[in-house]
Amino acid sequence: MPLRFTPQMKQRVTRRILEMVQRSLGCFPELKDATITIGYTRKHLGSATVIYRKGELYRMIIRLKVRKVTYHTIGHELTHLVQGLAYGERSGARRADPDRIPTGETQCDIWTLARDPLFLDDPPTYIKMPRMMRERWPDYAESVRHLCIAAIAKRHTERRYIRWLEQEIRALAKAPKREKSAGAAQLLLPFI
Ligand SMILES: [Zn+2]
Repeated sequence: MPLRFTPQMKQRVTRRILEMVQRSLGCFPELKDATITIGYTRKHLGSATVIYRKGELYRMIIRLKVRKVTYHTIGHELTHLVQGLAYGERSGARRADPDRIPTGETQCDIWTLARDPLFLDDPPTYIKMPRMMRERWPDYAESVRHLCIAAIAKRHTERRYIRWLEQEIRALAKAPKREKSAGAAQLLLPFI
């Protein structure tokens, strides 16, 4: 898929970022024919813009920080592009598509985590969760991802699926932590 860089990003882009963007794009078949412009931002979070001119898709841009960029941020911004594509599409058919990703930041986080485990390398910004869970994110990431997948499946029948998701996440934080199987085996070893 063709990538372009803004002049600011051209000076800063590293092989690592390029590889991260390409690997992330592999999870977004919706964007496979699109030309995406990669720009630079100093902001903590990235940004995404979809520009339409006269009803035609004109440009898709994501802006990223160069230092400490995560797959999660790249995935989040690419999900915004998919949201923007659906929003800009004027035909009623696309809008009525039940698989369309709804607009909104929390929705963007939910659909990003659900899309692929690649995007679990950093906690989401907009889904509400206890601070402890953010601090110990690697322990919870997989479970939260599965809750996001469940929430997406629920949204057609449960209008408040985001509230449901955030309740389940709080419950998960309160649940006693199960020992990981590897750790339990190690503990048992001396007694065998
Ligand atoms: Zn966002």
